[in-house]
Amino acid sequence: MKGWWDLTGKAALVTGASRGIGRAVALALAGAGADVACVARTAPALDETAAAIGALGRRAVTVPADVTSGEHVERMVRRTVDAFGRLDILVNNAGVVFGRAAETLDVAVWRGLLVVDLSGAFLCAQAAGRQMIAQRSGRIINIGSIFGELGTQGFAAYAAAKAGLHSLTRSLAYEWARYGITVNCIAPGYIRTDFNRPALANPETRDRILSRIPLGRVAEPEEVGPLAVYLASDASAFMTGQVLFLDGGQAMGW
Ligand code: NDP
Repeated sequence: MKGWWDLTGKAALVTGASRGIGRAVALALAGAGADVACVARTAPALDETAAAIGALGRRAVTVPADVTSGEHVERMVRRTVDAFGRLDILVNNAGVVFGRAAETLDVAVWRGLLVVDLSGAFLCAQAAGRQMIAQRSGRIINIGSIFGELGTQGFAAYAAAKAGLHSLTRSLAYEWARYGITVNCIAPGYIRTDFNRPALANPETRDRILSRIPLGRVAEPEEVGPLAVYLASDASAFMTGQVLFLDGGQAMGW
């Protein structure tokens, strides 16, 4: 009998699957039984993720693509459906971060960040959503951030983009519920990836970060996988429009 968490026969697409959280989520979905299309701009690293999925006995395709290009995003959904016959799960994970003081933040840098972290996620949700609407089912999982809800210093563009993504989660959840599509968001705190490696390598910054996390540590990327599997599976069928913190308690007591 198929269990609540079983993703056997499901087709997933994960953006930013070449490293960090995206790679870990792609492997977790494959571990639960899904076939996975892996997307990022850099092809060799994607091939490595695909090989790891193959080793789990699941099918993987790689689609080198930039989520800011409508043409690339259409191609990525088409390639997934060509390979697997359907698209059940989208994980909108690709993202970038730049730290700058707000008073000197160049508007080109502001736009550059929003175009990846917010507009890119919208483009991917729209293209995947069209396929899911035709199927009358689907799961969209956005990767937001605790900073989409909290004030922060030096990361105004990033925090604004993630707040937009949290809001987009609720609007798409409302709009597409009638088609059997759920849309939820994982908002992580600090996860040990290339994203924040420089910050964590600086002892002073690391101590300041850790002092704000009640559990007293950062998480490994693999710790995001189980929540993504839950949101992709039958276990979460009645949950939609939610932003779930995965942050060691940080958002409780900023
Ligand atoms: P990484 O920098 O390790 O990975 C980012 C991934 O996104 C890479 O695969 C990268 O591949 C891909 N990517 C970046 N830009 C694009 C683009 N334009 N088109 C397609 N792919 C792109 O970051 P993390 O794994 O740490 O972060 C993943 C997500 O999690 C991000 O959305 C981030 O905001 C979020 N997050 C991370 C936290 C953390 O502490 N690490 C905390 C909260 C949220 P390539 O460069 O080859 O395109």
